[in-house]
Amino acid sequence: MTTATDLLRASPLPALETRVLLTHVLGWRRTELITRDAETLDATAVARFEALAARRGAGEPIAQLTGKREFFGLDFDVTPDVLIPRPETELLVETALDAIAGTPNARVLDLGTGTGAIAIAIAHARPDARVFAVDRSPAALDVARRNADRLLDPARAGGALTFIESDWTANVDASLRFDAIVSNPPYIACDDPHLAQGDLRFEPRGALTDEADGLSAIRVIVETAPLLLAPTGALWIEHGYDQADAVRQLLSARGFTAVRSLRDLAGIERISGGLAPA
Ligand code: GLN
Repeated sequence: MTTATDLLRASPLPALETRVLLTHVLGWRRTELITRDAETLDATAVARFEALAARRGAGEPIAQLTGKREFFGLDFDVTPDVLIPRPETELLVETALDAIAGTPNARVLDLGTGTGAIAIAIAHARPDARVFAVDRSPAALDVARRNADRLLDPARAGGALTFIESDWTANVDASLRFDAIVSNPPYIACDDPHLAQGDLRFEPRGALTDEADGLSAIRVIVETAPLLLAPTGALWIEHGYDQADAVRQLLSARGFTAVRSLRDLAGIERISGGLAPA
C-alpha cells in the first residue's frame, strides 16, 4: 500500500530529485504528485523507483537515469555516450543565432555535437539554416540523429541535419563554407579533480577532457576553422572559467578579428569567438 507521499517522505535524496524520478517512473506530471498523493502505486513502479533512487544515491546523473535533459526549451534524449547538455551552453546557441541573424539559409557547423543539443537548438530556431554536426563517436552520432529526428520538422526549409563522423574538421567537405562554426569541445585539463566528482564521473571522458592541458582541442579548432568559414563567418567556442584569455590569444594569433568573450548567467567568461581571418 505504498503511495507517492510515502516514497517522497522515505527518500534520502533531495526532494526535487525524488520528484523527478517519481514522475519519470509513473509517467505523471509534477502536479499529479499532489492530486494523486494518496493513490496506491503499482508494485512494479515502486520497485523501479527504488532501483533508480539507489543508482542516484550512488552518484549516477539524473539525466542518465531518466534518459532526458531539457536544453533551449527542447527535450533531448541523453545516454552515457554523450555529455549531458548544460544550461550555460545556451549562451553558445544564442550567440550563434545572433551571428547568423541577417543571413538567410545560413550554413552552420557544430564540432563535437554529442546529444546534438547545440546543432538541433539552432536548427529548431532557424528552420532555414543548413546545419552540419560532427562527432568522432558513432554512438554519440546515433543519439544526435535520434534527437534530430524527434525534435525537428522533417519539412524544415533547411532540410535534415547532415551528420559527419569526423575528428574535428578532418572529414568535413573542404569546399563547404560556413557562416558560423560552434563548438563545446572537451576543455577540462586531465588533472582537474572535477573529473572525479559528481555527474562528470559518469559522462564520456572524451567529451570532457583532452587528456592534456584542456586547450588542445580548442587549438585544433581555432587552427582549422578558418579553412571552412565564409568570408564574414564567425567561430564561437565554449571553454572553462579560466580559459578566456588563452582562447582569445589563440583566436587573435590565427588572424580572427573582433575577438571577444561573453559571460554566462553566472558572470563567467564562458565562450570566446571572432570573425574569420581576412
Ligand atoms: N561544462 C562542463 C563541466 O564543466 C564541461 C564540458 C566540456 O568539457 N565541454 O562540467
